[in-house]
Amino acid sequence: MLTDYHVHLRPDGEGTLAADYFTAANVARYREAAEERGIAELGCSEHVYRFTQALDVWQHPFWRENAHDDVDAYCDFAREQGLKVGVEADFVPGREDRMANLLESREWDYVIGSVHFLKDEAVDMDEWGIWRTRGADPEKIWARYFETLAAAARSGLYDVMAHPDLVKVWGAERPLPEGDLRRFYEPAVEAFADMDVAVEVSTAGLRKPVGERYPAEPFLAMCLEAGCPIALSSDAHYPRHVGFEYPSTVAWLADQGVRELSVFERRARRLEPIG
Ligand SMILES: [Zn+2]
Ligand SMILES: [Zn+2]
Repeated sequence: MLTDYHVHLRPDGEGTLAADYFTAANVARYREAAEERGIAELGCSEHVYRFTQALDVWQHPFWRENAHDDVDAYCDFAREQGLKVGVEADFVPGREDRMANLLESREWDYVIGSVHFLKDEAVDMDEWGIWRTRGADPEKIWARYFETLAAAARSGLYDVMAHPDLVKVWGAERPLPEGDLRRFYEPAVEAFADMDVAVEVSTAGLRKPVGERYPAEPFLAMCLEAGCPIALSSDAHYPRHVGFEYPSTVAWLADQGVRELSVFERRARRLEPIG
């Protein structure tokens, strides 16, 4: 069974109103793409910072710019449309209780945990970008990113850890740490295994400057060695992204010995054979 759970029903950025995208016609376009690509389980996972309720968690200016929608209206819409109901919830260190309040009072099928920010700086955006500072040290940024990802997993807030090596998104456009990168992955893998969270294999990296999936192959190998279950997603922001590069990714997963994918319902996980 193929899944696509980490799916946004609209592109990021201003002017993408819920009224224009949370519609039956828009969902039909996503569903059509999923059916064409043999994806049996389709869910959506809006960014938590799109919801006004997220401002109780964090008041970063980027969140304030984006928080326009009502989380309950979103959940009701997704459920009515027959989508699995998910959310992509950033990890905000120190705000775990507030995020737990937001998450616990809603009926999700799964909660996807992401690290996009280290303190106030973003790893994957130019705006607020952590690489703007002259002399930004890749060794330190990578270490902080993976330590934060480990803390996110250990928070117990999440079912799936999204795009687990997002810090590499820029590829050769930003400085890279030297040598074997596995030293960075270690604390995260340990946390994933201890907390029994699923690790997202995301094809989104293939659309980004880095041009490879998340996680990198050695990172995936470590996760598998530690017994972590895998969840497969595209991080679509348009219908055309649904199931993006799945055939090559399924073959890659088979080469790595992955035979089952995580399937979620009301935050319970089971494993289903891929094909
Ligand atoms: Zn993300
Ligand atoms: Zn996403």
